[in-house]
Amino acid sequence: MALIVQKYGGTSVGDTERMKNVARRCLAAQKAGHDVVVVVSAMSGETNRLLKLVAQITDRPNEREQDVIVATGEQVSIGLVALAIQAQGGEAVSFLGHQVRIVTDSTFSKARIKSIDAQPIRAALAKKQIVVVAGFQGVDETGSVTTLGRGGSDTTGVALAAALNADACEIYTDVDGVYTTDPNVCPAARKLDRITYEEMLELASLGAKVLQIRSVEFAMKYKVPLWVKSSFTEDPGTLVCEEDASMEDVLVRGVAYDRNEAKITVVGVPDQPGAAAKLFGALDAKHIVVDLIVQNLSRDGRTDVTFTVAKADFAKAHDVVKLAAQEVGATGVEVDDTIAKVSIVGVGMRNHSGVAARMFQTLSQEGINIQLISTSEIKTSCVIHTKYTELAVRALHTAFGLDAPPPVKDHPTVSENDALHGQKA
Ligand code: ADP
Ligand code: ASP
Ligand code: MG
Repeated sequence: MALIVQKYGGTSVGDTERMKNVARRCLAAQKAGHDVVVVVSAMSGETNRLLKLVAQITDRPNEREQDVIVATGEQVSIGLVALAIQAQGGEAVSFLGHQVRIVTDSTFSKARIKSIDAQPIRAALAKKQIVVVAGFQGVDETGSVTTLGRGGSDTTGVALAAALNADACEIYTDVDGVYTTDPNVCPAARKLDRITYEEMLELASLGAKVLQIRSVEFAMKYKVPLWVKSSFTEDPGTLVCEEDASMEDVLVRGVAYDRNEAKITVVGVPDQPGAAAKLFGALDAKHIVVDLIVQNLSRDGRTDVTFTVAKADFAKAHDVVKLAAQEVGATGVEVDDTIAKVSIVGVGMRNHSGVAARMFQTLSQEGINIQLISTSEIKTSCVIHTKYTELAVRALHTAFGLDAPPPVKDHPTVSENDALHGQKA
């Protein structure tokens, strides 16, 4: 008997019929002899709807109050899914974040989990109940409701799996697993049987929203076997796991894109010690995460500093930077929210040269101008104009040999995944 945490995303609980489907899957896992904890998201579109209501009141919302509002979507889902399980003859109990003491810090809208009290869940499991927990939400030390950032139910799922020492965490979504790139953007994308934690972490942080970054961090840290599967098919999905030697053979595992960033340039920054520290210190004080940073060569004692932030932080970052720029004596601030970041990721890049050059060449062949570049051991990212996103993703996917081969008939093959499943059983 195993303890399994299953997380169902917004599309998987998008209407009551789909919730009944979730209930059937949970009951089937229980019938197979497992203890089942289910984490659910808000119904698809609900979190966006709630955020729009907030925006109708103010464009600079108090983040504590915003979290009170956006956390409500998951409350509806847990109640309905628990009812659906009961309606099918099962036993289920629902819990909000605070009821299982998912304690977070107080960084509203992107809080980090500090601890979880597994006891109420264990007590319910001992009574053979299926435990349905609200994703995305927690509570801080003072009792305020917090949320974990967009896509945060993934993190609730993996964190619960870690806290409960679960045998597996299964993330159910609207695609069959992790693909070489977003299958909704690139029809030639291929489903991966396995991907390393490290590659998944990079893909997630570079925009592949199939898993929230923090969920992969948790899985990697606590070695949670993490599966990504579809809630609509029986496909075995993708296993996110530790690297083994064979996984380095692949140069580029995937391509990611992110249209959720904006670019800010501080123009004419005096080229002297402390200027960058002041600019980025001011952003940090407001918990604004900065991604790429580029500083131009200095001319006449002044330089330009360009960086990117999440679009959600753009307005706040702009306000902060305008003030900080004045303080350091810069001449101006320019902004651009029509950018996209495209990235290639693969552990094989560690041991091979020329990958970045091939990426730049591919983009240039498509006539795409590169605005910013960033590299690390296993990834290269380029910021381009947002209108070229799909073109860039597809061109890179082809250039790095990731396109799915045309289907070969009459030659059925045994996938690597079947073998993996055999080992795990
Ligand atoms: P959920 O609501 O279930 O959490 P999300 O919309 O957050 O689902 O994540 C699933 C989506 O992630 C897919 O529909 C797909 O468009 C997108 N996606 C982006 N990159 C990838 C990738 N490499 N593999 C699979 N899906 C991806
Ligand atoms: N409902 C939240 C969101 O839309 C959390 C999640 O779905 O994971 O971001
Ligand atoms: Mg998601």
